[in-house]
Amino acid sequence: LVPRLRPFASTVFAEMTALAVRHDAVNLGQGFPDTDGPAGMLETAKNSLFGGDNQYPPGPGRPELRAAISRHRQRYGASYDPDTEILVTAGATEAIAATLIALTESGDEVIVVEPYYDSYAAAVAMAGAQRRVIGLVETENGQLELDLDALRDAITPNTRAVLLNSPHNPTGTVFSRAQLEEVARLCVEHDLIAVTDEVYEHLVFDGAEHLPLASFPGMRERTVAISSAGKTFNCTGWKIGWICSTPELVAAVKAAKQFITFVSGGPLQPAVAYALDNELEWVENLRVSLQEKRDRLSAGLVDAGFAVRPSAGTYFVTADVRPLGFEDAAELAWTLPERAGVAAVPVKVFTDHPDEWKHLLRFAFCKRNEVIDEAVERLRKLV
Ligand code: PMP
Ligand code: GLN
Repeated sequence: LVPRLRPFASTVFAEMTALAVRHDAVNLGQGFPDTDGPAGMLETAKNSLFGGDNQYPPGPGRPELRAAISRHRQRYGASYDPDTEILVTAGATEAIAATLIALTESGDEVIVVEPYYDSYAAAVAMAGAQRRVIGLVETENGQLELDLDALRDAITPNTRAVLLNSPHNPTGTVFSRAQLEEVARLCVEHDLIAVTDEVYEHLVFDGAEHLPLASFPGMRERTVAISSAGKTFNCTGWKIGWICSTPELVAAVKAAKQFITFVSGGPLQPAVAYALDNELEWVENLRVSLQEKRDRLSAGLVDAGFAVRPSAGTYFVTADVRPLGFEDAAELAWTLPERAGVAAVPVKVFTDHPDEWKHLLRFAFCKRNEVIDEAVERLRKLV
């Protein structure tokens, strides 16, 4: 493995899931749902698979899927031309990697917010660029928000892009309008590209609103907006993602993407198109049920002695392990499957400053209620 990729030899999700399987633990480590997506979507996929639709789809993605993505994006008041401004990818993961590979190179800096989804650092490294990490900071009311002073300080003449994820994995933070306004202003002022990871766009709670950065003044033409079907329709294994951007930026990302996977998921693409057009009511029910699951798991974790942080979106809550007498959540996490029969992920593995984040564990609540209850039951016996 070349030196720049050596820190990325394995992912925490693969390791933690393997440990969970070995100890027959309840896996609240890796974020994936344990129920299926809408029946109409699965039926559509089945019809494609058995209808002889099993060869390469077109390079930019099936036209009906690009049209459906365009219609879906209209919910934010934004128009994207399905022919030139949308590209279907192998999940958001490929979209992020292809975007960075296409738009950044050696000498360029990419600003990343920690804690960050693990693929970001690896994708920046694959592009040969440098990551500049800024953090989330705690507000007076105990919420997390972007450290805008740190963002201003991190921008240099070499800064090419800002990579932003809201709703935010792993903390569940949903960035506010005021904060995004300032990010947008800085991107325009310094002529930066914004890469926005919006895979949890529908999974926001308590009336929080997902605001795409591309909707702010001056941002439409400099933002690569990324999303994916996995979290919206409970099909994380399908790996159907997409980008919405300008014709120039889409063409650039396509140049990289075509030599990474070329295309993928052909027979699944019509099903995602169907779901985007017809299953948003199903998604609303999912959102409501996830909010209840967040509450269920949070209450259980508090009962078990953790200090739970607020989560306004995603699949995740984070919890401080110090009230239970532990200092380092990672030490606890790597022994938790064996000790308690539960798997969770330490937040510090998503950071460049592990000491600042070492008290937190991330738990996924995108599970059936009985699975959440079983995990809580086991965690109550931890100390
Ligand atoms: N971004 C974030 C923040 C995620 O949590 C995930 C995975 N769950 C991804 C990207 C990857 O999405 P996909 O499975 O569509 O590649
Ligand atoms: N996105 C999921 C999570 O954060 C896992 C994805 C993966 O396993 N790479 O848990």
